[in-house]
Amino acid sequence: MVALDLIELADLVRPEDLVAEIMRQNPAMPVPVPIEELARLAGISKISAFETTGFEGTLITNPEKSDGHIFYNSRVPRPRQRFTIGHELGHFLLPWHRQATFNCSADDLKTSKAGWELEANRFSAELLMPQALLARECSPSREFDLADVIRVRDAFGTSMESTIRRIIERSERAYAVVFSHENKVRYTNFSEYFTARLTVRKDSPLPAKSLSRLDTSSTDDWNEIDAHWWLDDSQRGVTLPEFVYEQTLVQDDGYKVTLLTYDPED
Ligand SMILES: [Zn+2]
Repeated sequence: MVALDLIELADLVRPEDLVAEIMRQNPAMPVPVPIEELARLAGISKISAFETTGFEGTLITNPEKSDGHIFYNSRVPRPRQRFTIGHELGHFLLPWHRQATFNCSADDLKTSKAGWELEANRFSAELLMPQALLARECSPSREFDLADVIRVRDAFGTSMESTIRRIIERSERAYAVVFSHENKVRYTNFSEYFTARLTVRKDSPLPAKSLSRLDTSSTDDWNEIDAHWWLDDSQRGVTLPEFVYEQTLVQDDGYKVTLLTYDPED
């Protein structure tokens, strides 16, 4: 059972504060977070799937935002649909987001450019993986591997990409994640404690000696590899560890996720 007292939400303008208040009102929030139920309690009277016309999600609302309709792409996996619904709910609840119709594209849903779209994304990520609940599953101070990320992803009903990014951004250890497609880097994310610079950039091939180039997953065991394959040793005055530990999850259609870590004391 979830509940929402909308009066208490009315003046909150930061996505994180809104979610903190929703969590305060629901100390026993179940996971996966019941996103549709929360949207209905917030005033969204209709939530439906539509065959995409170039948008991932749409919010239509009245000027006083007492009622809204959310539409989401019927053709994407359920975790992405949940993220889209959370994003549109963010536009609905964030008081400065005022517009009769929000049409949100796939790019809007992954933007890192400051603005309404990023705020709606922050709201959705925070609501679907609330920090306190996530810390219970995967504490920022402890080590984790891809098997843990998969367990958290399945528990929270989120995508692999958003789950691992969220765990890494809060980790108090040296972790990096490399997202690749057909053995070329798409993008990377780091924890604050991963201070070394990677040898790969966007569009670089994965390192020749890395097991990430293989078409088999390794999510429980770490592969030890000489650090220079992954870490840029041309920086002066930076002492690099001898080894990097890597794990890779092979996904569909040539997509892979590679998790990297090292011991800063090495
Ligand atoms: Zn949007």
